[in-house]
Order: sequence, then structure tokens, then C-alpha cells
Amino acid sequence: MQMKKSIEFFNNIPAKHCPECGDHIIEHAESFLMECDRCLSRRED
Ligand SMILES: [Zn+2]
Repeated sequence: MQMKKSIEFFNNIPAKHCPECGDHIIEHAESFLMECDRCLSRRED
């Protein structure tokens, strides 16, 4: 039952997608960045 609850919890998190490449973005609690790590690192170059 605990596993099912945790799955429902994750399903309730709205999925974000990178506007640059369309990849899923794992939302970081301390970050408001809208792009995935790959695009962000590319942009910093
Ligand atoms: Zn991206």
C-alpha cells in the first residue's frame, strides 16, 4: 500500500518539459530554471 501511495504522489507532480529540446525536466526544489541540465550547460558555454 505504501508503494501505491508513493506512485500516486509522483503522478500528481506536473511534468515539465524543456522548451529547448523537449526532454523531461526534474524540477529542483531550489531552482526556478525552465530548461534541462543539458541545455543549461550548453547555454553557459
Ligand atoms: Zn533541454
